Amino acid sequence: SLAGKTAVVTGSNSGIGLGVARSLAEAGARVVLNSFTDRDEDHAIAAKMASETGAEVLYIQADMSKSDQCRALVEKAGACDILVNNAGIQHVAPIDGFPPEKWDAIIAINMSSAFHTTAAALPMMRKAGWGRVINIASAHGLTASPYKSAYVAAKHGVVGLTKVTALETAEEPITANAICPGYVLTPLVEAQIPDTMKEYNMSREEVVRDVLLTRQPSKEFATVEQMGGTAVFLCSAAADQITGTTISIDGGWTAL
Ligand code: NAD
Repeated sequence: SLAGKTAVVTGSNSGIGLGVARSLAEAGARVVLNSFTDRDEDHAIAAKMASETGAEVLYIQADMSKSDQCRALVEKAGACDILVNNAGIQHVAPIDGFPPEKWDAIIAINMSSAFHTTAAALPMMRKAGWGRVINIASAHGLTASPYKSAYVAAKHGVVGLTKVTALETAEEPITANAICPGYVLTPLVEAQIPDTMKEYNMSREEVVRDVLLTRQPSKEFATVEQMGGTAVFLCSAAADQITGTTISIDGGWTAL
């Protein structure tokens, strides 16, 4: 059980972050949810998770594109035994037409935020004598696709940061690993479907099968529950010597 542990999950009012947070709450952790918004809805998500799991769940607003807010999130959490760096955005365009401000935002949110939260969390983990850093990278942290320059660069960067974090904590009871999902049907992926339908003049079904899941040999989306289960496993004693590595949950994508 993760009773007595606090998990901070960045970008967790939706999709994978929300699913991972829920699995950690079900396992007994105190959970801090986060996004850049501060709506009643965000706090309601935390209240619902608390009542359904019996765990303490709170929502803390912080913009992961801002270094000081990344660090403040971890400080405000009061404890951070489990850090899940999950916040992420996507933009799809060829390099020569890629908006520079989108590049900067993706590098900041998808990659640099993990550096800042990790820097704030490691002293707390050391003090507590135990810690887990779980970075949600991507199959795009290990392979590339055209038109996703910023995303692929950021995710490869996260995998690199994960390895350095693992080496700097190697002799301590702290581990750092990256989960590399293939396609998971979340709002982030859902948002890519209409543009792709237009671009290739395809139906939704064709886009899902022939574009999104072409690289995923299982031809099935991975699920947020599978991400959550893997995160809980990484927090278990069985994973004490798993550090500095990637766990792909991609239906065979990276075997191709
Ligand atoms: P999503 O859009 O459902 O969730 C993204 C989360 O990040 C949301 O909670 C959003 O509020 C938050 N966020 C965005 N900008 C933020 C900011 N500036 N500050 C704080 N929070 C912010 O998408 P998702 O698919 O659940 O993606 C979650 C992570 O998983 C991302 O890092 C993504 O790259 C990664 N991932 C997703 C897939 C997939 O197929 N869905 C595959 C591989 C990796």
